[in-house]
Amino acid sequence: MGGKEIGVRSDVFFTFYFLLSTFYFLFSGESMIKKRVVLTFPKEIVEQPITCHLIKDYDLIVNILSAKVNPNEEGRLVVEIGGQREKLAGGMDYLKGLGVSIQPLAQDVRWNEAKCVHCTACIPICPSDTLSVNREQMRVSFDSERCIVCGLCLKACPYQAVEILF
Ligand code: SF4
Ligand code: SF4
Repeated sequence: MGGKEIGVRSDVFFTFYFLLSTFYFLFSGESMIKKRVVLTFPKEIVEQPITCHLIKDYDLIVNILSAKVNPNEEGRLVVEIGGQREKLAGGMDYLKGLGVSIQPLAQDVRWNEAKCVHCTACIPICPSDTLSVNREQMRVSFDSERCIVCGLCLKACPYQAVEILF
């Protein structure tokens, strides 16, 4: 990936904070909810420490699944965000206030089976085995639950059978 990766630092603080938060939610009895969303950042704010604020100020657990951020370009982050319901809502409001677009992950990647010719060109490319092949039947299938919206299959597919909608 050409751009700068954000939030993927092996930072001791965040690792510790992540573990602490997980234990808190496991043992505090508070119900934790999770969302998988695609965040699209206006180019003016891509370099701000926004995920840091979500973690520190809203007690959220932010698991970054995919990130593409370049200076002076619109940025994209695919994240799983977990936390106590009210705090999660607060975090979402904070993002919206900054002009960040929030879309549910499930709506963003579409595999069009009718267009797929099962050529398998995408199989070695897909890092999460979302696209997989039954070798006996040589049939490709798509498991949307596994998709991290990395976008690699778009370039690999000669038939535009996969679309990512941002
Ligand atoms: S975007 Fe494509 S390559 Fe990336 S995980 Fe999803 S199906 Fe696989
Ligand atoms: S590269 Fe495209 S056409 Fe080929 S198997 Fe994958 S989705 Fe289907």
